[in-house]
Amino acid sequence: MGKFSPTRQHGDCEEIDNPSTAYGRRLRNWIDAHGSVPHGQVVDASCGNKRCIALRHAYVRPRVEQPGKYRKIAARVHRLKVGQHFDVPGIGADERSRNRFRSGLYAAARLDRVSVRGQPDGSVRVTKVGVWGIGA
Ligand SMILES: [Zn+2]
Repeated sequence: MGKFSPTRQHGDCEEIDNPSTAYGRRLRNWIDAHGSVPHGQVVDASCGNKRCIALRHAYVRPRVEQPGKYRKIAARVHRLKVGQHFDVPGIGADERSRNRFRSGLYAAARLDRVSVRGQPDGSVRVTKVGVWGIGA
């Protein structure tokens, strides 16, 4: 079904020229791998590349959430030293919101090992606990 769009490797990403075709392909890859996408959620690329369809960069986020949010937080984690942390406010005190944040950040922070701990005020504490592949 549909035309075959060639993909191209770009760094860590697999790209398609047309962003809306890329969205469809990313969605389909996600559904093939994980099943359906909950209502009100979209499948975004954690790398922030609108043309990227790589499954390992795909994560589900609420439609209203700011795109690129996890990429920005992951970049901040990357600048930390192991053992340092910062708090991200306004995530929500319920497990669902925290789990969503956790999976979004884990998908984006591919170089760093992070621990995410919910705080009673609805913020989360993000701690850099290590770096993948080095001294593990
Ligand atoms: Zn990507």
